[in-house]
Formats: sequence, C-alpha cells, structure tokens
Amino acid sequence: MRGAPAGPRVLLRRLREIMAEPIGAQDRLDKTVQQIAANMVAEVCSVYVLRSDGVLELYATEGLNREAVHHATLRVGQGLVGTIAEEARALNLPNAQAHPAFQYLPETGEEVYSSFMGVPILRAGRTLGVLVVQNKAHRNYSDEEVEALQTTAMVLAETIAAGELSTLARPGTSLDLKRPLSLTGVALCDGVGLGHVVLHEPRVVVTALIAEDAEREMQRLDEAIASLRLFVDDMLSRDDIGIEGEHRDVLEAYRMFANDRGWVRRMNEAIRNGLSAEAAVEQVQSDTRARLQRSTDPLIRERLNDFDDLTNRLLRVLMNKQHGPSASDLPKDAIIVARTMGAADLLDYNRERVRGLVLEEGGPTSHVTIVARALGIPAVSRAGNVVSMVENGDAIIVDGSVGEVHLRPSAELESAYVEKVRFRARRQEQYRLIRDLPATTRDGHRVTLLMNAGLMVDLPHIAESGAEGIGLFRTELQFMIAAKMPKLSEQKAFYRSVLETVGNRPVTFRTLDIGGDKVLPYMRLAPEENPAMGWRAIRLGLDRPALLRAQLRGLLHAAAGRELRVMLPMITELDEIRQARALLDKELEHLKHHGHRPPDKVLLGAMVEVPAMLWQLDGLAQVADFISVGSNDLLQFMMASDRGNMQVAGRFDPLSRPFLRALRTIVRAASAARVPVTLCGEIAGNPLSAMALIGLGYRSLSMSPTAIGPVKAMARSLDAGRLKRTLDALLDDGAAYDGMRGALTRFAETEGVPI
Ligand code: PEP
Ligand code: MG
Repeated sequence: MRGAPAGPRVLLRRLREIMAEPIGAQDRLDKTVQQIAANMVAEVCSVYVLRSDGVLELYATEGLNREAVHHATLRVGQGLVGTIAEEARALNLPNAQAHPAFQYLPETGEEVYSSFMGVPILRAGRTLGVLVVQNKAHRNYSDEEVEALQTTAMVLAETIAAGELSTLARPGTSLDLKRPLSLTGVALCDGVGLGHVVLHEPRVVVTALIAEDAEREMQRLDEAIASLRLFVDDMLSRDDIGIEGEHRDVLEAYRMFANDRGWVRRMNEAIRNGLSAEAAVEQVQSDTRARLQRSTDPLIRERLNDFDDLTNRLLRVLMNKQHGPSASDLPKDAIIVARTMGAADLLDYNRERVRGLVLEEGGPTSHVTIVARALGIPAVSRAGNVVSMVENGDAIIVDGSVGEVHLRPSAELESAYVEKVRFRARRQEQYRLIRDLPATTRDGHRVTLLMNAGLMVDLPHIAESGAEGIGLFRTELQFMIAAKMPKLSEQKAFYRSVLETVGNRPVTFRTLDIGGDKVLPYMRLAPEENPAMGWRAIRLGLDRPALLRAQLRGLLHAAAGRELRVMLPMITELDEIRQARALLDKELEHLKHHGHRPPDKVLLGAMVEVPAMLWQLDGLAQVADFISVGSNDLLQFMMASDRGNMQVAGRFDPLSRPFLRALRTIVRAASAARVPVTLCGEIAGNPLSAMALIGLGYRSLSMSPTAIGPVKAMARSLDAGRLKRTLDALLDDGAAYDGMRGALTRFAETEGVPI
C-alpha cells in the first residue's frame, strides 16, 4: 500500500470506529467512503448498492459530484460497475476509459479519472453492491491493494446486511437483499405454511470481523485447519465407509479443499489485511462461492456444496460452535430451510413449531419426505439455491400444493395466502364432517379407505382422518431412524404399541423393505449399480433369514390374541411367498412351544409391485391370503423410469393406458380368485387417480392420512358404475387413444365429482 504499509489494518480499525458512532446511516456511509479514499490515497471512493429492481444506485461518494448520490444508476451488466456486479469479480484498470464496458455517467463528473479499481460487495456469494476507488493519474493498483479493498468491502457487506441502509432507499425502491423472490420447485408434501426461515445449518455469524494481532490469528487458522485435516483423514480411514460411493467422493473433495494451498494462502492474506481468522474464512468463502456459482458445470456446482460444508465446519472449529439447530430459539412458525436433510434430523425439531420445509435436494419418495408427510409438514424441494438467498428470520411462505416458495413476500401475496390457508381450513372442516361416514359411492359401492404409516408419529392420524385401518405399515422407517439395529424386545414393544393405538382396526405390517434407496445407517451393504432392482426387500430377507425371522417373531408376539396381517415386499416369484410362509410357520411353532399366546389368526399377503407378478396372478390365490398393489414400484419398473430420479420420475403418467390396463388386470384376477386386493401406492391418495382406481374395480385403497378426506369426498359423489363403463370402453378401444387423464378429468367435471 502506497505510503502506508499498515494501511488496511489502520483502515479497518477506523471503519470499526465509524460503525460504532451514534450517527445516521448516510453520515456513516459518507464517513466510510472518505476514510477509504484517504487511506488508499485515492481521489474517489464510491459505494453502489444493488436495488431489488436490478439497478445499482450510487449511495455515497467521496470525490464525485455529491448531487449524483441516489441519482446516478447503472443496471447490472452495464458499465464497469455493472460488469463487476454481474461477474462478481474485481476490475483493476489503469485506463478505465479504454475498457469496452466503460460508460460515462455525466452527472458524476468522473471523466477526469483514469484509473479505476472496483470490487463486488459480497455476502454468502451474493452480490449486494460494488465498491470503487478512482485516481486521476494512470495508476496500477497492486494485487495487495485489490485484496485490501475486498476486505473493506466485506465490512460494507455486513453494514448492508444489518439493514441500516434500507432507511436510505428512495421511495418506491428497496435493497436487493430484502427483495421478494418466488422460487418454483417440486411439491413434496401438500399444505401451505407461512412463517420465518430457520436455516437447518445456520451460517455461523462472524461477529468479530477485525483483529489486531495478525500473528495470533494466523496461528488460530493454522490450528483450525490442522484439526479439520485430521477430521477428514480420520473419516476417510474409517472402515465403515465403503471403498466406493458418494460419501467417499464427498470426503475426497473435502480433503482436496483442506489441502488446497491457494485457499489457505488467500485466507492468510485476508488476515494480514486486518481481518480476524473467522472473517478471513468467510471472505474467501464468499468470493469462492460467487465464482463457483457462476459455473455452468454441474460437477463444479456440486463441489460448491462440499466447499460450503468444509468452510462452515472450519468456522465452527474456530468459534467453538456445536453443529445443528438449537431447539430453544426456534420461532413458533419455523420454516426449516436446508440443502439436504436426513429423516432423523427433521424428527429432532419440535413438531409444534415447524410450519414447513424447503430443501434444495430431495425427491418425493426420499426418507425425509416420507417423514414430513407423516408429520403433515408442507414441503417443497429443488427450490434453487434457496439456502444462500435467505437469512435466518426472513419471512417465507411454502406452498406444498404447487411446489412454490415465496421469500420475503409482499403484503398482497401474504394476504392472498392467508386467504388460501383459510379456504383450505374450511375444506378440512368439510372433510371433518364426513370423517365418520363411509366412503360409499352414489350407486352404493362401498370403498374401504386405509392409511399408510410407519412411525409412532403417524398413529394419531388414524382417528383424525377417519381411516378404517392401516393398509401399509412400512416397518423399515422405524429401522431407518434408529441409531442401531432395533433389538427383538424393542421391535415387540413397538409393534404392540401400534396395535394398541389402533384398537380393533386392521393393520397390515409389511416386512422390512430395506436396500435400494432405503438404507440403514448401521448396516453395511455392498454398493450396487441398480440398487432399486438389487438386493433388497424380500430378497435380502430370505438370504438373511435371521433378520426376517426376528421381525416375524416380534410381530407374532405383539399380536397375541388378535389378527396379524403380514405383507411381503417386492415379491417376484411365488416360491418366495412359500419360503417366507415356512419361516413364519416355524416362528409360530416356536412361539407356541414356549407357551406364548399366538395371534388368533395370521394372514400372509404379498405386494404386487414387480411386473413379473402380472403373469402369476392365477397362482397367487394358493399362496397368498391377500395382495396389495405397490403402484410406486410397479410404475417405475413397468416404465423403466427411476422413481427417485427427478429428471424422469414425472415423465410417465400413471393414468396412461398401459398402466391402467395393468392395474385392471390385477384387480380382475384378484376378484376372480377371491383374493382381497388393496392398492397402497401414492396414486391412491390423489382424488383423480383414486377415482380411476374405483372405476377399475378397486374397493380398498391405502394412502397418506391427509388424502382420506379429499378421496372420501370424491368417492361419495361418484357414480362408480357409469365410470366403469366409460373407463372400460376407453381401455378396450385398441385404436391409439392416449388422453386418459384428460378423459377422466372431463368425466369428473361433467359429473360434478370433486377431484
Ligand atoms: C409402492 O412401491 O408403491 C409402495 C407402496 O411401497 P414403497 O413406496 O414403500 O416402495
Ligand atoms: Mg414398493
């Protein structure tokens, strides 16, 4: 730094004093630019702040015409200042006028200044404004000077984020940081939630930006990085992490960053300029984030997440902070915002206070989604890079009915949503009125509506929804959220409390459907190329009979003196049912032999979710007491379309001719063989598809509890006979007719069936 080797440090100290002075926002900003200009021996120092309309407005200047303040503006991408904002990168020009992007703003009187140095004002990778210094003479600003200006910009970023500058906004304008923003993602769980952002992994807030003793700060940083490296190496050498796999890739990326000399060098440089170790980590993170974010390469963008995690971990080491949310300061209307989240993490929050969930990653059948649905939490995923767009406490609306997220909504939008919530509540009230009535169609067909469950938290819904029983109890969910394999005694107690809670209503327990995307954290399975079609569910159960037998034993004990219904997932050949029945009989013998009371009746059923079952339906009656159609898996295997892959998951319509024909084949065969049949996939919970299922002949459907009201209202206003005739005619017509969904929708509309 010219003439002042300790320049940046002195400047930061002065800025800290200015920040603490009891003066107005404009005075503070004016003093700040004066100070920066003086310290950097520049004739001009200006601050441009990004407005919500994408315009950069001059908020303060030393050296340019004062009248231009709050008048001179540039759009993002326009002129040098706009280019810096757009590219989030510094510009250092000895001859600014020669730059192709140069644009002269007459009101500022800047024509006399040749050299120009500008840096973006960044926060969490977002551009909030631009800081510029200018000199008359041609001058080459050194790299150190650019870094010093970047450090200074960080202090300004804090000032802008703190909110004081909002008071300076001209009427009708507002700062970009507080801009209302709507994001469209994927609807995961129905419902609408209004509340305030709670970042699942909050950014660590660095409070001490500036430090006097650079040596000490560098040492602190050194120690923190050393402990971070140790942590990563330790994780990599642990043998419970497979040799391959995503987990390892992430750790390798961590190691790469942790050992990156450039990264460490830049943080040390920021400390030399006067920042504390924490602030240095944050500055370099912000800068790196801004650059990586602009990359179109998805692999690089993925690395961005790893980099963020690593930096956050480093900040936590430096600040001695624990990981994870603190339950105590959860607002009453918390909307949890996270990049990704495990099912168990969500269960850690106080349900009473959670109004919604927004994720950047996660599909409709991911574990956290299943738990959110069980808890009745409206949820949206794939909501862009929402985590970097919000601050803790920002107002937010989650609309899980259409997959929208509204950040910092306008008053109009908020009141529209309050109305929407009221409307939904009124509808819920209507569903409550029919809760205890049967789902009988207008022409007298009785349809049984059951609910899907898997956790204790699901059980109160049985009474609230009016479900007639549990048609699918996914036992693996309890295993997935446990820290270790549940013991036999724990399983018994759990199944018993399920049965006690539901009273005399039937419960169909499905044996463990693990493998595929349903991983148990404590069970190591070899990586598979196609896990959904791999070693999962009954395949794993029969190959590792100890696990399946323990579960059957637990179930038999729990159902002493009552009916037990057990269902087998992913059945592909009938012999699998025979083998499972042999295990079940053995366990029953064992139970009786030890003098325990057996269930009054044991029924063994099979899921129909592998297409091969369609050609074995005639033999099913001999081996299975009942069947249940798993339309989620059946659809993914019939259409060869991965249900967990968002790129293809919605590509093929379950209400298409081939799929509806397959479903009709199943229900007809089951009726002919007098085998009771239920359908328990997600389509049972959608009124339009549930209507189609009734038309095909299904009389028992199992769905998420919130769907029971809407499906019952639909069923009670349906003429099932008329629908059957219409649907059969459409399905039997060999001529290509693909608009099944359209035809069904029209039928509902003409008949006044609410869908
Ligand atoms: C299905 O596949 O439709 C089903 C109900 O089971 P799961 O969603 O648990 O695979
Ligand atoms: Mg399935």
